[in-house]
Amino acid sequence: MRIPYRDPLPPPAIIPRSATTLPAAVAALVQFLTSPSPNGLPESTVVLSGAGLSVASGLADYRGVNGTYRVNKAYHPIYYSEFMASHTSRQRYWARSFLGWPTLHNAAPNAGHYAIRDLGRLGFVKSVITQNVDSFHSTAHPDIQTTELHGYLRAAVCTTCREEFSRDVFQHELARLNPTWDSFLHDALASGALNPDDPSKKTVLKGLRTNPDGDVDLADAPYTTFRYPPCPHCLAESPRLMRNQGLAVDVDEDGAWKDGSTAGVLKPAVVMFGENIPKRVKMAAEAAIDRAGKILVLGTSLATASAWMLARKAKERGMPIAVINLGGVRGEELFFPDPDVLRSGAHAVRVELPTDRLLPALVDELKTQSVAGDSEATRIPEPNNSEAFKDI
Ligand SMILES: [Zn+2]
Repeated sequence: MRIPYRDPLPPPAIIPRSATTLPAAVAALVQFLTSPSPNGLPESTVVLSGAGLSVASGLADYRGVNGTYRVNKAYHPIYYSEFMASHTSRQRYWARSFLGWPTLHNAAPNAGHYAIRDLGRLGFVKSVITQNVDSFHSTAHPDIQTTELHGYLRAAVCTTCREEFSRDVFQHELARLNPTWDSFLHDALASGALNPDDPSKKTVLKGLRTNPDGDVDLADAPYTTFRYPPCPHCLAESPRLMRNQGLAVDVDEDGAWKDGSTAGVLKPAVVMFGENIPKRVKMAAEAAIDRAGKILVLGTSLATASAWMLARKAKERGMPIAVINLGGVRGEELFFPDPDVLRSGAHAVRVELPTDRLLPALVDELKTQSVAGDSEATRIPEPNNSEAFKDI
């Protein structure tokens, strides 16, 4: 993943022009989902989501409503090459991650995620591609196929043997190896320093910058004291690794990874900056676009190259596109060339409303219309089983 596109983005043209209120936006999206897909494309919709969808869960977005970067300018994300090359970088990364994990672990999917579950049950959404690493999609709707484009924080992965380990178990190991940091974390959590009241302001990074009791400055935190465990699998295999590949895992008296080891480094199972998205993940995301007839873009400015290219692929296939995002979207004029001809929402929708309000309202309206057994144009399609039954 590369550092995302950071230029300010112009405000969007709302499509259809009337869709500036919740009821009008819902009406446009009902049209979008219930109109037949053009050119014989499949009827189902693929969702492409980003950080904006998780804002209502208290997690950080990358941009404010004006399309400006919200992340603190002083924040320098760690690059994959740094993480791999330097023990000190990994100490710093895991120390900050250790402090930030409880906030993420305690966060939960919001009404927007559950509305996607309901759109799946109603037969509209068959697959989801997300840039988010919070696992909220798989928690809220385990039955909808979901591709996590940038990986997930729920696991740590070994950079030698690729085995994955639960982040919760890893957190316990970090606590065991770093008792001083652990008590600091407990104090910080007890004081509410990592848990601001305003969910929209709550970010892991902000929490880390907060002085929990007024005289601890994490900017100067002693990261070099932080210890992290090696991959248990590689540790057990170390003598054999040494014989076969010249790799060794050394640990200190408490079992922490020792500088000078040449294997068994654990990394979060996310795609870091400067790291490639695994080919199988990329292919799964492209296949999800190919299997759908429409694309619903939620809470993302398409700033990452991977997300942008997926949306462009959908456009090139002639798929109608609907975008729900607060603030501008990179290159959206390419997706919506002439807003004046797009009056109904059947071919394109561009609205600027929070997903946790708009999506549940959309589900309610679709259910109402379904119960009312409405006209042909707005009838809810039954889940399509023709594929499953075609050989019977
Ligand atoms: Zn390993």
